[in-house]
Amino acid sequence: MQRSEGSADLPDDTGRFGRYGGRYVPETLVPALDQLIAAYAKARKDKAFQRRLGDLLRDFVGRPTPLTFAGTLSKRFGRHIWLKREDLNHTGAHKINNAIGQALLAQRLGKKRIIAETGAGQHGVATATACALLGLKCRVYMGTEDMRRQAPNVFRMRLLGAEVVGVDSGTHTLKDAVNEALRDWVSSVADTHYIIGSALGPHPYPMMVRDFQSVIGREARAQIKKAEGRLPDVLLACVGGGSNAIGLFHPFMKDTRVRFVGAEAGGRGAALGEHAARFAGGTFGVFQGMASYVLQDADGQVVGTHSISAGLDYASIGPEHAWLRDKGRATYLTCDDAKALKGLHLLAESEGIIPALESAHAIGVLEEVCATTRKNAILIVNVSGRGDKDVAEIARYEGVKL
Ligand SMILES: *Cc1c(COP(=O)(O)O)cnc(C)c1O
Repeated sequence: MQRSEGSADLPDDTGRFGRYGGRYVPETLVPALDQLIAAYAKARKDKAFQRRLGDLLRDFVGRPTPLTFAGTLSKRFGRHIWLKREDLNHTGAHKINNAIGQALLAQRLGKKRIIAETGAGQHGVATATACALLGLKCRVYMGTEDMRRQAPNVFRMRLLGAEVVGVDSGTHTLKDAVNEALRDWVSSVADTHYIIGSALGPHPYPMMVRDFQSVIGREARAQIKKAEGRLPDVLLACVGGGSNAIGLFHPFMKDTRVRFVGAEAGGRGAALGEHAARFAGGTFGVFQGMASYVLQDADGQVVGTHSISAGLDYASIGPEHAWLRDKGRATYLTCDDAKALKGLHLLAESEGIIPALESAHAIGVLEEVCATTRKNAILIVNVSGRGDKDVAEIARYEGVKL
């Protein structure tokens, strides 16, 4: 079916965005996913649930986040550049929007135990925070290599009362942590909810996470209309699994004159294994519960990825992005490590905001995106998180001893 307006009314009942998405899980998980689909469908329409979520986003997370005019960048590029400030959320990034939404849903389902996976630790911290707030037991799976690289976040999760379990299989990173969390869930679904951290995995996660993150785009839409009197020309966001980007894009899906641009991690170079740009080297495949673009070799083996930002370092991408890309509704650019660092310095020095290394990938391609627009065009860039967590990594990368 042709849907020129984009995927505003997707996924379909089977969780598909065109050929992407779906539910590729062991049979034992199907009843849990069915239960989740039903519970979420009700919660979505339940005013009391939405009110409670809205109250927590306001009073605990600190929403709405500001839309900040980037005066120096605007002058420099001759465009109106606005920054959506997800870096100002409690815990420092957009991930808390989803973690709180899903934790509330778990409570509604009567599930008292939460499991999650984490790569950089950001989703683990957001989940541990939501669990502490709502009195839920929390276990976070994390690759042992990631635990070593992200030791402060491991300690943060423990301070919040979560149990952090190291995963020693495979490459000891995010995909291995996801496998371990899925394994746990198979044997614990009766009392446990699995909070996935991005718009990824089996249906209904890509849809549900998108909906919880769409608060970003809803706020931005109202804010830009108030500030500029019209909708923006371009929305720009970095894309790991794709949750901050789809959260910004989705409320503009039917506004076909608003262009969507995503920035993927170009890592160290274009060779397979050196980056995490699924749209620049990935092919159709099934991975961790869904069909999407996957970075894989000729035998269908998922390959290792690299990015300076742990949050973008994943071999697949949310199915809705795959669909938007094939339809031409969204375009995706590659931003390598060096360019992302340049973007980070640019935003820090010109606007007084040190972005997360993930968000810096969006800033890194800002100049080339501006070049495709007319003078005085309006752009909104999502600053998905703050850079405090990355300071040591940046210093290391640049050879500075702290
Ligand atoms: C995790 C993370 C991302 C990447 O995840 P998405 O689901 O693609 O948004 C981007 N920015 C920050 C700050 C993150 O913590």
